[in-house]
Amino acid sequence: MDLLELERSLIGDVWTSPSLEASLEYLCDACHGRFAGTEDERRAGDFMLERLGEFGAHNVAAEPFEMTGWVRGPARLGSVDGDVLRDLPCLALAGSPPGDVEGQVIDVGPGTPADFERLGEALAGKIVLASAEGPHRLEKYARSQAAGAIAFVFANGRPGMLASAGSLNLGSKPTSLPGVGISLETASLLRRRLRNGPVRVRVSVEGGPRTVTARNIVGELPGSDPSAGWIVACGHYDGHDIAQGAQDNATGTAVVLEAARVLAPLRSHLKAGIRFVLFSGEEMGMYGSEAYVRDHPAELDRIRAVFNADIVGLGAPLNLVVQNSPELASYLRGLPLDDLGAQVRDERLVPYSDHFSFTLVGISSLMAVTSAPGQGHGWAHTAADTLDKVQVRPLREAAATTARILLRMAMEPDALPSQRQPPEAVKQALVAAGVDEPMRVRGVWPF
Ligand SMILES: [Zn+2]
Repeated sequence: MDLLELERSLIGDVWTSPSLEASLEYLCDACHGRFAGTEDERRAGDFMLERLGEFGAHNVAAEPFEMTGWVRGPARLGSVDGDVLRDLPCLALAGSPPGDVEGQVIDVGPGTPADFERLGEALAGKIVLASAEGPHRLEKYARSQAAGAIAFVFANGRPGMLASAGSLNLGSKPTSLPGVGISLETASLLRRRLRNGPVRVRVSVEGGPRTVTARNIVGELPGSDPSAGWIVACGHYDGHDIAQGAQDNATGTAVVLEAARVLAPLRSHLKAGIRFVLFSGEEMGMYGSEAYVRDHPAELDRIRAVFNADIVGLGAPLNLVVQNSPELASYLRGLPLDDLGAQVRDERLVPYSDHFSFTLVGISSLMAVTSAPGQGHGWAHTAADTLDKVQVRPLREAAATTARILLRMAMEPDALPSQRQPPEAVKQALVAAGVDEPMRVRGVWPF
């Protein structure tokens, strides 16, 4: 069979099989949020081991690693009004240290570096209120802590009384501020009250970080030419404890599993191998992909490209966001991807998902992510990230595109970038893209 016939067979298989939706349903309904280090995560890992084995993948295994997990306890945000403490709905942000503080609220809005600069010393001893838009949550949290704030209140970006549970982690720096997520509506209430004068609140968080063992799940389809190396197809299967983590990222997990299923029968055509890796610990700080890179040093020179699927059922189009690799971007632009609605983008570095652990060591990588106008990150990190929000048709398109790209890459590995970038080149690219300063602030700058 030639390439076109192989593509037809695998796209047709994705389009007509019930297995993609079946995987998604099991991951969401039987494994809930698959929060790292929990029974739910374990069950999801066992399911994927079984599926990869059934498909005929080789060397199917769980690779355990230790990470900083977290246990949720009660959280409280009380609005102090004279002697009255009025409870406002909130959730502890995952990873929050325990704490119980009272102070004045200071609104940093979107929390850009300029916002923090402008507020300066006024932040010391205050409780920061930050919006979802603008820089990443972790950047705002890090800047709040550095400025001497005493707690962090993070507002969700879309209505529906949905608090965000997004995590707190400052890499090499310890976290000291308790953090809670609140809804857009609760943030609006606080902002209206702030217009009339100072607002005092009390933030208390119980529970806190603990060391847990989590597992990456791996399986592979070896290529016919060992010198051609490997393509890594990956996605994180862990989510938060408060919802199903359907879009983020049962969708990417199901798509990677589906690609393994439809590519397995075509393995005799592959020149390079394909390694499927489902990471855990991403939500708490990319622990799984960091562990993988750390534990497989001999393999890194042989990884030709990394395809990371993270939130791929939100809508259309599927964006293939290439990280620091013009060669990979131009290779992808030469593929016939329009018919399934995928777009190649290379204008931004995204240091917040598992591909980035590979980007940092000079491996060409991309993040596949869907966007939909006005949807932002969709329902991610809220209790509403449930299976019913996933759009099945874009998910099927994402699975077909993923399988097709992996097939092409593994059949024509000579067209892929052949060498890792040296550390100095990676460093310069990150500096040029302006992601070095936020990474330093977050305690995750490795250079
Ligand atoms: Zn994600």
